[in-house]
Amino acid sequence: VKWVYSFGDGRAEGRAAQRDLLGGKGANLAEMCSLGLPVPPGFTITTEVCTHYYANGRTYPPELEAQVDAALDEVGRIAGRRFGDPARPLLVSVRSGSRASMPGMMDTVLNLGLNDETVEALAADSGDPRFAYDSYRRFIQMYSDVVLGLDHEVFEEILADEKARRGYDVDTQFAAEEWRAVIAVYKERLEAELGEPFPQDPRRQLWGAIGAVFSSWMNPRAVTYRRLHDIPEEWGTAVNVQAMVFGNMGESSATGVAFTRNPSTGEKALYGEFLLNAQGEDVVAGIRTPQSLTEAARLEAGSDRPSLEKLLPEAFAAFVEIAQKLEGHYRDMQDLEFTIERGKLWMLQTRAGKRTARAALKIAVDMANEGLISRQEAVCRIDPASLDQLLHPTIDPDAARDVIAIGLPASPGAATGTVVFTPEEAEEMKARGEKVILVRVETSPEDIHGMHAAEGILTTRGGMTSHAAVVARGMGKPCVCGAGTLRVDARSGTMTALGRTFRKGDLITIDGSTGQVLAGAVPMRQPELSGDFSAIMEWADAARRMKVRANAETPADARTARAFGAEGIGLCRTEHMFFDEARILAMREMILSDTQQERRAALAKLLPMQRADFVELFEIMAGLPVTIRLLDPPLHEFLPKTEEEIGEVAAAMGVDAERLRARTEELHEFNPMLGHRGCRLAVSYPEIAEMQARAIFEAALDAAKRTGAPVVPEIMVPLVGMAAELSFVKGLIEKVAKTVLEEAGAQIDYLVGTMIELPRAALSAGEIAGEAEFFSFGTNDLTQTTFGISRDDAARFLETYRKKGIIEADPFVSLDVEGVGTLVRMAAQQGRARRQGLKLGICGEHGGDPASIAFCEAVGLDYVSCSPFRVPIARLAAAQAAC
Ligand code: ADP
Ligand code: MG
Ligand code: MG
Repeated sequence: VKWVYSFGDGRAEGRAAQRDLLGGKGANLAEMCSLGLPVPPGFTITTEVCTHYYANGRTYPPELEAQVDAALDEVGRIAGRRFGDPARPLLVSVRSGSRASMPGMMDTVLNLGLNDETVEALAADSGDPRFAYDSYRRFIQMYSDVVLGLDHEVFEEILADEKARRGYDVDTQFAAEEWRAVIAVYKERLEAELGEPFPQDPRRQLWGAIGAVFSSWMNPRAVTYRRLHDIPEEWGTAVNVQAMVFGNMGESSATGVAFTRNPSTGEKALYGEFLLNAQGEDVVAGIRTPQSLTEAARLEAGSDRPSLEKLLPEAFAAFVEIAQKLEGHYRDMQDLEFTIERGKLWMLQTRAGKRTARAALKIAVDMANEGLISRQEAVCRIDPASLDQLLHPTIDPDAARDVIAIGLPASPGAATGTVVFTPEEAEEMKARGEKVILVRVETSPEDIHGMHAAEGILTTRGGMTSHAAVVARGMGKPCVCGAGTLRVDARSGTMTALGRTFRKGDLITIDGSTGQVLAGAVPMRQPELSGDFSAIMEWADAARRMKVRANAETPADARTARAFGAEGIGLCRTEHMFFDEARILAMREMILSDTQQERRAALAKLLPMQRADFVELFEIMAGLPVTIRLLDPPLHEFLPKTEEEIGEVAAAMGVDAERLRARTEELHEFNPMLGHRGCRLAVSYPEIAEMQARAIFEAALDAAKRTGAPVVPEIMVPLVGMAAELSFVKGLIEKVAKTVLEEAGAQIDYLVGTMIELPRAALSAGEIAGEAEFFSFGTNDLTQTTFGISRDDAARFLETYRKKGIIEADPFVSLDVEGVGTLVRMAAQQGRARRQGLKLGICGEHGGDPASIAFCEAVGLDYVSCSPFRVPIARLAAAQAAC
């Protein structure tokens, strides 16, 4: 078995595509070598050795030692040295490198192979004893820390003492002899601490370091990191052993890191830092402040410390050329590590550079325009979820954060405002021009007007799909929910957090992207939807098959949806139109009526308002499809709760308050979510559906007349479980259509369809499709009813499920493909088998989740519908799913 892959001298046994075997670092070192770039020779011990090591009680495969020896000889041959040779010693670095870059693993050991003897050779060889002893003392420090487990503070203390004793500020002031003295103290102390002298045998040093890399795969930091980032344990790490080059060989030597483009703005300009006369770790460790690579960056930073461009122009020019070559080769922005030894440039690492969402957009668009990648590739390179960062204000990353609580990041963006505890206060303060954050234990549909008035919403109870979270996302407002350590006392108007009390009127900030709640106001960054954003969106639109609609009922939401590129409304929840103050009274009259006649009288009051709503929506959507769902929620959500409210309704209806109270009690349900709601309402009270159908048809005629564009309303019947239910409600709708059309003497096209949100509906989808002209998968309720988990209560235990590995993701956030997905797939197939061209869409929260959108593409849905602010994310995700 081949366990070791060599590279050097313009050749390599491995290549970039072998990252699984060689790890990212090793695979790219090999690739750079093959490209003829200056890379110090070395070899990679494969990840398979790591696997073998753990499968066999931490032992190596028997052939490994011979393969390492052979590879080491080859490295020495190329470098003109020999490992362990006292006259011309080969020195190496030992570097870990797994498939995915992984902090928490072993740190790199540099200068390995030095001992009391070889250090003298290095001194003679380089003609610079100071450099040789500096390297040796670094090696002792690093090796002891990383391999022998001796706390690095031990040496730092010694070094600090020695510096103080000599009155030095920086390490570079030490002369050769002084380093020699420090080394002696180091070794003495080390032996005292470990009961053993520092290992002098280079081979022992090497195997010690290799063993330390493999062991670090299982250290707690690495294990935690893997768990958090879903990196499988089986992957293992590789070990890279590479000939040393020295950035600390005087003033013509340096070490640095660079990005081929600016990782925070995406600007096409080399961006990086370096240190003169230093070794790799110094740059990251922050021992000295690094200098700018380019003159341009130096000038911009207003620094008077010279750039590399100025100091070592030849090495700089070579580096610029290589950076360009690597970017072109990998066709992506690269993150590079390099060292210059006495004017000669050496490449030590390359990989795709991490970048902000903004930079990712700019880089993808620029590279497509430069012809480096295709537009489709550009589209595929953007993480759809990262667009959230761009669509909402965010907290300035440099701002100080006074965090008082952490809840769930329920709806992205950040907002500052004064604390209010009731929707009424929110409206009042807003009317006075104040920005407010509405703080509630949890929210209910009655709080909607307060939520509208607020800049952001904070709750102490509830999960990612609680009312507050869903509504806030729909409104595009920041929301933090389930901040359990906060205590809210609405009556006294206070909130306490970690012993601090906040009163109505105090300023707080919420960060709906992280779940943080902060005291006071914090500097923000406003979103800018730049040209790059629209370019990517345009390309995404060209690449996708599925349409993207929005869930919207208010004119404001509908306008936002269109501005973000929605191609229609996939879900207009009519009940949301009835919570406003003027209407809720008529709504309550309707619900509390004893007779059909009373009910019709109340509905007659609602009709013109409802019609006006629809006219406005149709006008805004200008001929795009609009799906309107008939009244869905349990009626109790509309019931008057307080005595005062009951009195108000009684007066309006001209009935006795006592009678009304009795009726309220009659309407009480034990399990309202599975109670008298959805199409069941239309079955019991056909006049409600009739009123809504009339409002829709009249509005469609009106809007068509005004805009000149035909309106084809899609009427959606909720919570259907049986074809017969739909058949009944459809009959009502058709009757109204006929009447309205006769009255108006006009022709009108419309569709009647249903939500598929109950398992029974999915199971009998074929039959339902006999009645329905479209299906919209209501995956919130479908998830709830398939799992038998109430989504309002799920947060309390689903997180525990996730932690214990029982579920991977919250099924209310990312569609459960195995269970719920099977129902969706089946219903889609049976529906289409029964009715050709049956329109299929999804309107649950999942319609805006990239992973769920990929599933929708696979099932062949016609469109996804999501909250307006997620429309761009859905457009991009739909394009990626289609690629
Ligand atoms: P990390 O994965 O933490 O970046 P590396 O293995 O890349 O660790 O090593 C960190 C730094 O050590 C490199 O950026 C480089 O500056 C230095 N280094 C590693 N190997 C060598 C070498 N063979 N010669 C000179 N410097 C090296
Ligand atoms: Mg590195
Ligand atoms: Mg539903």
